Amino acid sequence: MTDIAPLLSVEGVDVHYGRGARRKQAIHAADFAIAPGEVVGLIGETGSGKSTLARAIIGLVRPEAGRIAFHEEDLTALTPAKWRAFRRTGVIQYVFQDPLRSLDPDMTLHDSVAEPLLIRGGLTRAQITEKVRRQFGKVLLDETLLSRLPGQVSGGQRQRAAIARALLTEPRLLILDEPVSALDSANRVQILELLHALAGPDVALLFISHDLGSVAGITDRVIVLYRGRIVEVDRTDSIINRPAHPYTKLLVGSAPTLTAGGSDRQWRDRLRAELGAA
Ligand code: ADP
Repeated sequence: MTDIAPLLSVEGVDVHYGRGARRKQAIHAADFAIAPGEVVGLIGETGSGKSTLARAIIGLVRPEAGRIAFHEEDLTALTPAKWRAFRRTGVIQYVFQDPLRSLDPDMTLHDSVAEPLLIRGGLTRAQITEKVRRQFGKVLLDETLLSRLPGQVSGGQRQRAAIARALLTEPRLLILDEPVSALDSANRVQILELLHALAGPDVALLFISHDLGSVAGITDRVIVLYRGRIVEVDRTDSIINRPAHPYTKLLVGSAPTLTAGGSDRQWRDRLRAELGAA
């Protein structure tokens, strides 16, 4: 890790779902930190706990143990009212796999993208519209689309609008949950390139994916999650050239097949056999 004070630190975090006989631990003692401006991949198969960890960071699920701190402020100690105030600042933003979760189907792209700034307050409508226009340019969307509804533009354009919305509050941490997996391959490449270009010294990216191949080219470090446990955290080149954990070795071995659209099922069967899992 670097000597710079972390932007985000996750320390010994446990997350459970359900009660009684249905109680299940989704995250076990998660520990990692993200430095300002760092681009980090959070990789694991479906059900490994990636979204749960992300939801814990943005306060949608409450860890039962451990601490999550942002700029050394303990988020796990915030009351619901303080969480709402913290969210309004927009310093942590989230982009979902499905942009329709970020964009209201009945609102124009302009209004959806502007909404976080309206909620935060302090700017006139004209100032907000100017910022929305500029942000549209940065994500390579034509201004003529500002008056459209999400249903009237393509999937790739919707995801660009969702990214514009997330970036407008100038977040310090942007969490991207499988942001390209619903898109066709041409759009995937374009959005990944765009994110790569936008990742500067001011915004850290936490890039969630089941596919190491799709994030290896843009991440500084990779966190590998397997069945709710972080099994490896390292620089991306070390993960690729010298994977230590058996699961990581399999991920690395499978990455070319996965990016070429190989069968997830075959891969999971192989993984289970290799790890002796049920
Ligand atoms: P991933 O994002 O890696 O696919 P998730 O974080 O969605 O994984 O899920 C981790 C585990 O927690 C899975 O076993 C999943 O079934 C379980 N889980 C996720 N959300 C809920 C929920 N709301 N209630 C109960 N169990 C859940």
